[in-house]
Amino acid sequence: MNFWTRIIVAIIVITSCSAEPVTQRTHGSMGVASFHRVERMGTWIETPVVVVCKDSGVTLGRVKSAMQFWQNLGYEFEGEPVIVSGSSMLCYNREPLPFHIIISPPTAGFNYTKFIGITRTWEIGEPTIIFKARIELIQSAAARPRVLEHELGHALGWKDNNIPKHIMNGTWKLSGTTTKGLKK
Ligand SMILES: [Zn+2]
Repeated sequence: MNFWTRIIVAIIVITSCSAEPVTQRTHGSMGVASFHRVERMGTWIETPVVVVCKDSGVTLGRVKSAMQFWQNLGYEFEGEPVIVSGSSMLCYNREPLPFHIIISPPTAGFNYTKFIGITRTWEIGEPTIIFKARIELIQSAAARPRVLEHELGHALGWKDNNIPKHIMNGTWKLSGTTTKGLKK
């Protein structure tokens, strides 16, 4: 455990007593965004582990290519992605473990009429540090081009924008593989 990991663990322990100030933010992706800029809401200070719940329909090849997309921009992940059973505690618990990015099917309350995927991030501090995230995808979005890359972008700290052909464009049809402004 490095210095910052210890600090975060300490803060999480403290905040679980005081119920403050961990923020949980949800990005309802592929909805409509109105940002013309590439904007960031937080950064990781620890390299995240990516865990895929098998029932999400996301294959090992699919998650690896989405991770490679971000690795090409300078982002790092801890080791190889792991695929686990949907009944695993890692998937069953709505709250991921610290330093994990979980990819799962939608959980209760998912708005199927509006979204094909959402990403929840857990954040702390100012400037904002992200310390865990959960990506939820509908079955048909698991293999759809760019969706997982986009959601992984939220998990890594990027907001939706409405720049044509940009990977973080909040509307799937208008998005593309442009990565302007995202290099680490
Ligand atoms: Zn989005």
